[in-house]
Amino acid sequence: MNDTQLKIKKIVNALRLEYPSMSLESIIEDIEISIELLGINILYSDLSDLEKEGRRVSGFARVNKNTGRPEIVINGNEPKFRSRFTMAHELGHILLHWKWLPGRRIDHHFAEITYRADINYSQTEKARERQANEFASELLLPVDEVKNLKNQYPNISLMRNALADQYKVSPQVAKIQIEKANVE
Ligand SMILES: [Zn+2]
Repeated sequence: MNDTQLKIKKIVNALRLEYPSMSLESIIEDIEISIELLGINILYSDLSDLEKEGRRVSGFARVNKNTGRPEIVINGNEPKFRSRFTMAHELGHILLHWKWLPGRRIDHHFAEITYRADINYSQTEKARERQANEFASELLLPVDEVKNLKNQYPNISLMRNALADQYKVSPQVAKIQIEKANVE
């Protein structure tokens, strides 16, 4: 794992220690409830009006002006495993980039909305996107978990599909986490 990956892994571990709803079991069972227990509302919407150049927006985070709390808006037209990743990704932005802590209020001017779609990002935005993706992958399928399970599968493609199924992530995310586990 590189420095960013290690740093984010530590943040995810600290989060799990502090907040029981962030345990891996709870995340697998229902990440939506896990995040809502932190005090972040999750809403579903048809985000087709935000589409740019034919690219779909999977979701975004914003601050509710009345409550001063973060909210995550999810594209209701996407499959469940994709929405799970989007929720985890947006939570990553809220914690890593907004520096929000559960229970705190946040000024809506301070929180910049980042739409989850890969269009015209600057270098800084790209780095933030990578960090949020890293956070999401680690939250949903920790690299240490993959390492512990490594010897149970005869080959990588079987492992990838089994992990995707069990941890409710896409095969791509499972593959990325397996590769990180194998590099170490
Ligand atoms: Zn993002």
